[in-house]
Amino acid sequence: MRISDDRYSRERLRMELALRFLGHEARTQTIRAWTGLSDDRIRKLYRSYLSQARRVLPRHRGKSPHQVSYFTRSQQLQHESTVLASMLTLLGVLPPRPPAELPGLARGELLCAAFEAYRALVPGAQISFEHAVFLTAALSRGDQLRLEGCPGCGSLMVTERFPARGRRCHLCAGATHTH
Ligand SMILES: [Zn+2]
Repeated sequence: MRISDDRYSRERLRMELALRFLGHEARTQTIRAWTGLSDDRIRKLYRSYLSQARRVLPRHRGKSPHQVSYFTRSQQLQHESTVLASMLTLLGVLPPRPPAELPGLARGELLCAAFEAYRALVPGAQISFEHAVFLTAALSRGDQLRLEGCPGCGSLMVTERFPARGRRCHLCAGATHTH
């Protein structure tokens, strides 16, 4: 019996992506959705990852992120969301014509690369990987969040589709207040 090389390398890619997701403290359900691995495989992988890494990774038990308002909650988060969304766009994580099937191996690798670039660009970054996955889904649907230019100055920002406040960036909003 001969195992096809294709199938073997695809399995290896799944495992590699799952390990990368684990390193970013992703939830089991997220890893399952993006890699197609079973929960059982993910648990085994997690255990062997722990014994190799010799450290305890916090596992997220509660609900997955679900509030789009998180990304515009503060000036800092607004800034970070914009950097992250820009990376997601630049690296092609967001599909050009939604709704496309989002989770997948190739896009998962790009998602990790975008998240890692964001972490490198923002010291003390607050947005978790799970929130990055949530942001990716929301931006690709485009029904609740968008990455768009501020009408005042054109700088990019993540906005809520139906914002409670005006859609200007904090600099333009500040300028309006002082006038
Ligand atoms: Zn502006």
